[in-house]
Amino acid sequence: MIGALYEFGKILTRNKPNLGEVSPEKVSADRLIILNFDLEGNLTDIEESRNISELADKLLYKKVRASRRCNSCTPTFFLNVKEPDKSIKCLKAIFNWLKKYNSRIPELKDFKKITATLKNYLLNFPPKKKEKTLLTVRIDRKFPAEIPAIVEAFKIGYLEELGFTNGVCALCGKKTKVSGKKSPFAFYTLDKIGYLSGFSIERHYRGFPICFKCLRILEEAKRIIEKHTFVLTKAAPKYWFIPNPVLSETTEEKLEELFENIYDLEYLKRYLKLTKTEFQKLSDTDEDILDLLKELKDSLTFHLVFVEKNQSQELIRLHIQDVYPSRIRKLFEAKFYVERNLNLNLKEFTFNTVGQFFWKWDKESKNRNLQKYFLELLDRIFRKIPYSEKLLIKFLLNGIRQAYKEELEGGGKKIPYKSLDAIASFLFVKATTEGVMSEIKNNDIRNLVESLPLLKSPEAKGLFLLGILTQRLLDKQAGSREGNKPFLKKLSGFKLNERGFKKLMPELREKMEAYEIFGKFERELFDLASEYFAQSNKPWKLSLEEMNFVFAVGMGMKNRVYDKHFNSEEDQP
Ligand SMILES: [Zn+2]
Repeated sequence: MIGALYEFGKILTRNKPNLGEVSPEKVSADRLIILNFDLEGNLTDIEESRNISELADKLLYKKVRASRRCNSCTPTFFLNVKEPDKSIKCLKAIFNWLKKYNSRIPELKDFKKITATLKNYLLNFPPKKKEKTLLTVRIDRKFPAEIPAIVEAFKIGYLEELGFTNGVCALCGKKTKVSGKKSPFAFYTLDKIGYLSGFSIERHYRGFPICFKCLRILEEAKRIIEKHTFVLTKAAPKYWFIPNPVLSETTEEKLEELFENIYDLEYLKRYLKLTKTEFQKLSDTDEDILDLLKELKDSLTFHLVFVEKNQSQELIRLHIQDVYPSRIRKLFEAKFYVERNLNLNLKEFTFNTVGQFFWKWDKESKNRNLQKYFLELLDRIFRKIPYSEKLLIKFLLNGIRQAYKEELEGGGKKIPYKSLDAIASFLFVKATTEGVMSEIKNNDIRNLVESLPLLKSPEAKGLFLLGILTQRLLDKQAGSREGNKPFLKKLSGFKLNERGFKKLMPELREKMEAYEIFGKFERELFDLASEYFAQSNKPWKLSLEEMNFVFAVGMGMKNRVYDKHFNSEEDQP
């Protein structure tokens, strides 16, 4: 990832040739007191100026952390007006420090005299309240920035104080001053070698030394990246995305411009010449940048870095490398496939549809303990790596069981909606991790059961049909008993086993007859279910979780099945 950051940073800073230079800072003050010295280092006189902006380039001001030196590494710093002798002590320390890096720096003489003269000067021209006074020196009429020895010493000393020493930069390969301790990334630690792909172990071993220029490039890349965090779903931490050029395409002026503006949605629309106003989304945002990125050519890839901020620490929770725009396009294809096949007209499928099942295992618990599983799933979704179906069903069913609890406590119709989201998630995961996108035929109930990828065995098909009928009864009960659905209890919290389901079947039929809703279509579904159960494995080749899941999915699909067959006749609760 450092490699990608570096490449990105190089593009961002390509018009800043002086980036790697140690440069002084801008400074403003009300008053500038100038100590004039001759070439031998004797104080000649003191003068002052209020025209600081005009002299700013000559002052060589740079604030650092060094209390002994009044936080400066050049002879320009703020004067301690209450205790000017302290400032002169600092001046002495600064010159001693600078001399370490360049012996040609003139030696100032008689600091006692300097202190006394300055004190006397301040008595004659006393500082006003809240006045910011800067102190500097001039040697032989030259300000610090006009004396090459001082400038040179300042640059070397500044870097050495930051921990830079002679070596070879691991990023640009130059032999120069490098540091292995400096990094703009708190998370960038050496034990995570994977993050430093492209560099040899030997270099890691030495602490991944980088030069000041490369450090500044990384800092600039980080500054830009951090300003733009993106949301996929609230079930995952926010993410950064880092564009990475493929091959030598960076030389293309247009791609450089694209990189500079990659986070600007309006720019992207112009770049892609998109005129349509209706945008699709996979993320939990008003406008999804993924929708635009998917339209780009594969001349770049993205790194998606999911980062959690923990006080001042940044923790990488997931890093997905080298995602091509064409891969994002595939994810959108999977979304459209799910929406089309489940007729999700009103509800858009997004990552949140899946993410809602990966919040908390137990709704009452304080910890969001499922996030790590969700991140692993996300990784597989982006990289097309199969995900355990058993595990996926475990999480989806858990969400359905939570909805069951809520519905049982009088929370209205919850299970069918949750189950529909669950099957949508199931299909999306299958489509993205395995590439399974077989069309679901909804023209006829038998075709539907045969084409739904989830239903692999006859017993699964039977249970799915049983689920549809159960939801039919529950809707009827809810409509005729003031929302009371006594049959709900029979589902035992979606923990029914084979015996439980076999017992449920006649009870269901009996109740449907009692409610006078066992019509022609219900009989057809019922008979079909019996037919499948007659062909089933003995015992059923389904885990308890799988049984309850396909049953719940049937409940979730009830309205879709009925809409297809009855259009207007259906009695909605
Ligand atoms: Zn370098």
